Amino acid sequence: MKVYLDNAATTPLAQEVLEVMLPFFNEKFGNPSSIHQYGREAKAAIEKARKNIAQMLNAAPAEICFTSGGTESANMILQGAVYNLGVKRIITSPIEHHCVLHSAQSLSEKVRIEYVELDEKGNMRYEHLEKLLADDTHKTLVCLMHANNEIGNITDIERVGALCSKFNAYFFSDTVQTVAHYPLDLQKIKVDFITGSAHKFHGPKGTGFVYMRSGILLKPILQGGSQERNLRAGTENITGIIGMEKAMSLCYSNLNEDMDYIQGLKSYLLQSIKTIMPDVAVNGNDKTESLYTVLNLTFPPKEHAEFLIYNLDMNGIAASTGSACSSGSDAGSHVLKALKIPADIGSVRFSFSRYNTIAELELVTEKIKEMFSVKVE
Ligand code: PLP
Repeated sequence: MKVYLDNAATTPLAQEVLEVMLPFFNEKFGNPSSIHQYGREAKAAIEKARKNIAQMLNAAPAEICFTSGGTESANMILQGAVYNLGVKRIITSPIEHHCVLHSAQSLSEKVRIEYVELDEKGNMRYEHLEKLLADDTHKTLVCLMHANNEIGNITDIERVGALCSKFNAYFFSDTVQTVAHYPLDLQKIKVDFITGSAHKFHGPKGTGFVYMRSGILLKPILQGGSQERNLRAGTENITGIIGMEKAMSLCYSNLNEDMDYIQGLKSYLLQSIKTIMPDVAVNGNDKTESLYTVLNLTFPPKEHAEFLIYNLDMNGIAASTGSACSSGSDAGSHVLKALKIPADIGSVRFSFSRYNTIAELELVTEKIKEMFSVKVE
């Protein structure tokens, strides 16, 4: 049996999503910018998807701009904030995704970058954010993710939004791990920008969006045609957009059941590993304010622990040490480092989806037991 537990890196495409995408590869192949019937058909399909996506977020269609995913979206927001909105300071945290951290660093000659302090579990200190906001009146963009992709910690974005609004700062929350996994009501949350990426919720790769609150206009980072209301040049990824809308609708139509089911999987795996290995440690928040899709564990320092991911893989089990974008680099996880957890030794991120089963997790527990008993004997 092969077990896929790396759903925070990417999720398998849902069959229903593939089915709605297929006609747009051949029969309905028109370019949405063409004025003939082929083009009009494609354009209408994109606008329908935009309307539905906006509706699911309680936003207006004009506030949604389609992009290639979370990375492009974050780059667009940070660059736009600096070059278009006159932002002079970026406040972020050391555990953001690299698409935010590296974008911010690339702008460091233009803006001051400040980092919010975290507590020992990786939660943001809201008082420190408030102090940073109060101490400086330069136009500021606050970039704080809704949920961390490595340890699963959830930030109270309503609280951050209220603080940003009090100090007149722009607020961008990277919601790549929470769009289609949590209800997001953009009329309630005082956020100016959020981002989404279809492949994190059983949609296709290379498709995502930026939400930008009405009245705020970013600058395009790609120069060319006038697609996406002059915000993002280039022929639209129509199959991707259609697939993203379908994937998101599927998630939101069964949200509560899926949340309960997946939370059950996470609790089950933690409990069963703890039964065989009581000193396993949860990285990040263990119960509350944690993504129900992510479980990050540090195993006791026994032989083979550092080869855990490799050994799991040899047994057909796919998990990871952290962000897929950083694997293969020698740097180790910047998130675990910020939490002062020794660079990835024995740390594994398991991440779940609605397609996982308890039987799969039984197998994972069994294999972990075998791996660790090698040392004990
Ligand atoms: N932000 C977070 C929190 C993520 O987990 C990811 C993907 O790992 C991204 C941004 C980047 O998204 P994409 O793969 O669509 O560029």
